[in-house]
Amino acid sequence: MTDPLTSDFKHAPYWWDAAPLTGSPGGALAPSYDVAVIGSGYTGLRAALTLARAGRGVAVFDKEKPGFGASRRNAGFLGRTLKHAYVDLKAAKGAAYALSIYRDLSMAYESTLAFIEAEGIDCHAVRCGRLIAATSAAHYAGLERELEGMRTDLGLPYAMLPRARLREEMASDLYDGGAVIPDLGSLHPGLYHRGLMTRALEAGVTIFGECDVTAVERGGQGDGFRVTTSAGRTRARDVLVATNGYTPKSLPWHARRVIPFTGYMAATEPLPPDLLAKQLPHRRTVIDSNLDIDFFRPAPDSSRLLFGGATANGLEDPAAIAALLHGRLRRALPDLADVRLSHVWTGQCAGTFDMMPHVGRHDGVWYGMGYNFAGVPMGSFFGLKIAQKILGSPDGATAFETAAFPTVPLYRGDPWFLPLAMRWFAWKDARLARRGDRR
Ligand SMILES: Cc1cc2nc3c(=O)[nH]c(=O)nc-3n(C[C@H](O)[C@H](O)[C@H](O)COP(=O)(O)OP(=O)(O)OC[C@H]3O[C@@H](n4cnc5c(N)ncnc54)[C@H](O)[C@@H]3O)c2cc1C
Repeated sequence: MTDPLTSDFKHAPYWWDAAPLTGSPGGALAPSYDVAVIGSGYTGLRAALTLARAGRGVAVFDKEKPGFGASRRNAGFLGRTLKHAYVDLKAAKGAAYALSIYRDLSMAYESTLAFIEAEGIDCHAVRCGRLIAATSAAHYAGLERELEGMRTDLGLPYAMLPRARLREEMASDLYDGGAVIPDLGSLHPGLYHRGLMTRALEAGVTIFGECDVTAVERGGQGDGFRVTTSAGRTRARDVLVATNGYTPKSLPWHARRVIPFTGYMAATEPLPPDLLAKQLPHRRTVIDSNLDIDFFRPAPDSSRLLFGGATANGLEDPAAIAALLHGRLRRALPDLADVRLSHVWTGQCAGTFDMMPHVGRHDGVWYGMGYNFAGVPMGSFFGLKIAQKILGSPDGATAFETAAFPTVPLYRGDPWFLPLAMRWFAWKDARLARRGDRR
């Protein structure tokens, strides 16, 4: 294929077709708010909505249009995902800790679905199930061990699918079988974010789009914080930093603790329905078993296939990104070798040095971030938990609160080491494939 792009190709998220970004001028800044939230993604808006419904005066600031961040760019996979496998966490930190973390992951997943249903947010949220495709026989064995540990201790369902049966789930011969987790879900991330934003505005939250928060300082007159923005100064009793992969250097303590990295995604042109049905007959989400994952799903609202991978590869030119992603598509789903791409986009995620998401308070400022590619349920969950904490409710407790949010010496927020980290992930995946070692 000479040109993998359609003539109406967009260098923008597919999700913005249904949920375009809109302005939200917010009006004049009030002299003070009960709570100032920095970042208008799932974390910030879920917190803001909960607080406003409890009667608090809340301002949300975003330096871009509301929803510009990863919350309207992600793949819309809903899971109980952590970079540390349950069995490894149990071996390293003990059963009680691993159980408490994985129970909260389950709660994040279930409570996000329950919230969407209770609010009536029409965002194609479904329990479609997930296929994890094994990239080697050793990965297949590791997957079975991991999922069996979770079934035994947490009662979570799964079914292994040997190589000979993979085509029941995916039109691919690339993988060494896989596992189906039948109860995991997916949604349309743009419509979910738009529904959250509409409800926050209805509850009385003021959203200041294109308003950069440049400083947060303690003190001044009375309790609380002085918040300096590109639209002027205000005060707030509580401040929440909800900037995840977009965390600015003007928040140095947070910027030192998150590792921003770029995620890449594409949408195909509309496919003949039978061709799409052949690729993913059960319409599940698919990830592979590597640390650096490739992922696939059917669009919830059209006959396109959406996919991503090659995380943190450093490319910025859309044609080059399209060529790289198209290569991944052809390799996994060869029937789609001649299909063109209509959308290519990127978004910023946040890793952490201990590969755990973090929620808590530093110097009086609340934060929730470091979702390591799992922020749809976790951002929603942490937003709720932080709001409950601010309201003084014991329901705000979570196993993810820890005193330590690690950084490393000399790190200031510029992840120069990312290419090395990605190579290390690839080496670990290859080592597991060769020798069947534990991760
Ligand atoms: C390509 C891709 C695919 C992904 N797929 C999935 C998936 O399938 N499932 C899943 O669970 N997770 C996925 N994620 C991760 C998930 O999207 C994020 O973890 C989640 O959206 C983070 O939400 P958030 O509200 O914390 O931050 P974001 O939605 O990223 O919002 C942060 C906001 O902070 C704003 N901001 C930054 N600095 C300032 C400032 N100084 N002043 C004001 N505003 C500021 C930014 O403009 C931005 O809008 C994916 C991410 C990407 C990029």
